[in-house]
Amino acid sequence: MNRAPFVPLLIDVPYLITAVLFIFAIKRLASPTTARSGNALGALGMLIAVIATLLHQEILGFQAILAGLVVGSAIGVVAARTVKMTAMPQMVAVLNGLGGGASALVAADEYLRIAAGAATATADVVLTIIIGVLVGAVTFSGSVIAFGKLQEVITGRAVTYPLQKTVNALLFAGIVAAGGWLVVAAEPSPSLFLAFSFASLLLGVLLVVPIGGADMPVVIAFLNSATGIAAAATGFVLRNHALIIVGALVGASGLILTQIMCRAMNRSLVNVLFGAFGAAVGANGAAAGREEGRTVREVTAEDAAILLGYARSVIIVPGYGLAVAQAQHQVRDLANALEARGVEVRFAIHPVAGRMPGHMNVLLAEANVPYDQLVEMERINADFERTDVALVIGANDVVNPAARSDPSSPLYGMPILDVDRAKHVIVLKRGMNPGFAGVENELFFQENTRMLFGDAKSSLTALVQEAKAMAGG
Ligand code: NAP
Repeated sequence: MNRAPFVPLLIDVPYLITAVLFIFAIKRLASPTTARSGNALGALGMLIAVIATLLHQEILGFQAILAGLVVGSAIGVVAARTVKMTAMPQMVAVLNGLGGGASALVAADEYLRIAAGAATATADVVLTIIIGVLVGAVTFSGSVIAFGKLQEVITGRAVTYPLQKTVNALLFAGIVAAGGWLVVAAEPSPSLFLAFSFASLLLGVLLVVPIGGADMPVVIAFLNSATGIAAAATGFVLRNHALIIVGALVGASGLILTQIMCRAMNRSLVNVLFGAFGAAVGANGAAAGREEGRTVREVTAEDAAILLGYARSVIIVPGYGLAVAQAQHQVRDLANALEARGVEVRFAIHPVAGRMPGHMNVLLAEANVPYDQLVEMERINADFERTDVALVIGANDVVNPAARSDPSSPLYGMPILDVDRAKHVIVLKRGMNPGFAGVENELFFQENTRMLFGDAKSSLTALVQEAKAMAGG
């Protein structure tokens, strides 16, 4: 079939529009004010690419595609509406896994077509197939394990065993050797290809198993980037420009995100991937860390409201517990009530508070907290010294002073919000449980710290009532 005259019109032009839309989408996703329209632009770009592909390729039957579209869309809509914000990392893990798995399947199908004589291939095509299958399979099985750890279906601990790195290195060497053979071999070898594919799946499992649950969000961002690379490789196999461009965009942005997260945790990517962080609870860990005989100072909602209501400035520090309690509306009500009393209220946002990048921004945006009240860590840290009350809501690791002062702490070196330097600190949490890193927090025992125990939503509701009663009285 001679498609040449129609190709630019039917496929290249829509793909170019898709690529431009995706680039604008990413640009707009960078700010909360424009993120919604960025998302819509991205979806539009994807729709154009899908329609162009379906119309252009010699599709044998639309029935299976339509059925897949209906089932997939239904699952997507239900998941997007029902999955809680706190479970978003798991959701992203599933989506990554499916993306990687799909890329691997498409590439594998192409190899099997070549083996069956239905298509011809040069060594460079087989090489891209091999890369697509390897990266896609590792991403798929790695994402399944990441999902299991985050969902607590399997242990969140870093699972280690003797000679682990040697076993992984040997497996990887075997995969590279098999892949190399498949590329240079004169005849396709489906059995070796199958072994190569299963070994790649196994590698994904073995690479993620020794990584602790606390590092899973970074692993997911990294796997996300790998999905992009797998998609780009598949794009080369299929000679599909949109897939190559989109894969490259996902690969690059995923890598940038991974780097941002690592920097915010003061860890290197190598340390995250191979450091087995969280294998055992160390000397500073939760199990060993509960110091007998030490007491914290509790405060009632009434007294906490008085402290807040008579402050000149309050900095609210949200953390993972605020997301768990889904208390974003109550925290906004409290901020409004305090502002009505003339208190200056700001929110301090730590880059890795919560369980995914931007978690706190998204949570507070849902409750319509104005963006100008959200201040990044670097810009607000110097202000804690001059602040009357730091109100810590469900945050723990991101305000742990051990990160500054205790070289033996696993958190040492991670930049934190300096809440301990405020005149008063009020901490809202349910008990004395540690945060994600599993370490004790000296902040809770400080002279200027008061603990208001309870679920963040009920504590905040009580605080709002007290603050309003003060206004009325
Ligand atoms: P955190 O250290 O995990 O602490 C959360 C605290 O919230 C817990 O101590 C818990 O104590 C409390 N909590 C839980 N449910 C609550 C509820 N319903 N009401 C009130 N309190 C509740 O959280 P964080 O300070 O936000 O730190 C984030 C952690 O995740 C860091 O270690 C960070 O490195 C890690 N991490 C984040 C990302 C990211 O992208 N954001 C990525 C990778 C890793 P109680 O059980 O006693 O209430």
